[in-house]
Amino acid sequence: RAKAEGRGTYRFFEARMGAQVRDRRRLEHDMRLAVARGEMHLAFQPQTEVRTGDVTGFEVLLRWRHPERGPVSPALFIPIAEESGAIVQIGEWVLREACREAARWSVPLSVAVNVSAVQLHAPHFVQTVHEALFQAGLRPARLEIEITETALIRDPSRAQATLRQLKALGVRLAMDDFGTGYSSLSNLRTYPFDKIKIDGSFVRAVDANEQAKAIVRSVLGLGRGLGLPVLAEGVETAAELRFLADENCQAAQGYLMGKPGPIEDFREYTHRMTAETSSAKVA
Ligand code: C2E
Ligand code: MG
Ligand code: MG
Ligand code: MG
Repeated sequence: RAKAEGRGTYRFFEARMGAQVRDRRRLEHDMRLAVARGEMHLAFQPQTEVRTGDVTGFEVLLRWRHPERGPVSPALFIPIAEESGAIVQIGEWVLREACREAARWSVPLSVAVNVSAVQLHAPHFVQTVHEALFQAGLRPARLEIEITETALIRDPSRAQATLRQLKALGVRLAMDDFGTGYSSLSNLRTYPFDKIKIDGSFVRAVDANEQAKAIVRSVLGLGRGLGLPVLAEGVETAAELRFLADENCQAAQGYLMGKPGPIEDFREYTHRMTAETSSAKVA
């Protein structure tokens, strides 16, 4: 009896596994067509200077609206896109769209684009970045590329070479999700980063948790010591922002300052309004 039940459970398990694999393949397949079908779009989230509250730039976050499933989270589809290699093509599209959008702004704000390990190590990545900038007519210093530490460990010397070439183009580099990966402090010295982004999980814990405060303070100290500005991600409350201001954190990003959304929602920042256009807006 137990044996038969066991077998039944196994068969059930097997069937479920099969369904999961099929589901994943389906997503993988749909994803390859998604760009061409216009199902992908970019969301923009403001990055601000803590001291003044001024918006200094936007991070680009990829969004996929699946025709049947609705919005699919990047946390779900980006890893699949990385494993299948589809991220290379999708990532190129993101870079081109992001540069083209930023080139339209009348205020020269920065635009930050996430790049995963597979993209970074793909052949011609630097060429792709160069072309995206050139075709858009965007000054390289306005583009910031966000890379996690995890993306570096696969092939550190190759990553090093690629990051150096990106720096030579004039692009800026931010270390994303700092504190969550295989954090090695020497990474900040070895690789030519311009900025540290401290992960939202620490920032969101500072209200209640002394350890989180200590971690945020130590990353800020590290940034000061290395001469790298620090941006705190995932800021949701006024108390968190106040803590960051008290600790002299340079930059912040999070729902408190703005949720990721269509760039049209942020026209007041991206376009300097003349007296005429602003009065036209009131009218
Ligand atoms: P990330 O680059 O660390 O992006 C930050 C994530 O935190 C985003 O999630 C953002 O929507 C979310 N977030 C921002 N402010 C807050 C806040 O105040 N509270 C909370 N709870 N969350 C906040 P999202 O958009 O789901 O993206 C998840 C991850 O997917 C990103 O993490 C990034 O690693 C990846 N990703 C997104 N777009 C792209 C892309 O175009 N290319 C690549 N390669 N990866 C991307
Ligand atoms: Mg990011
Ligand atoms: Mg992050
Ligand atoms: Mg992340």
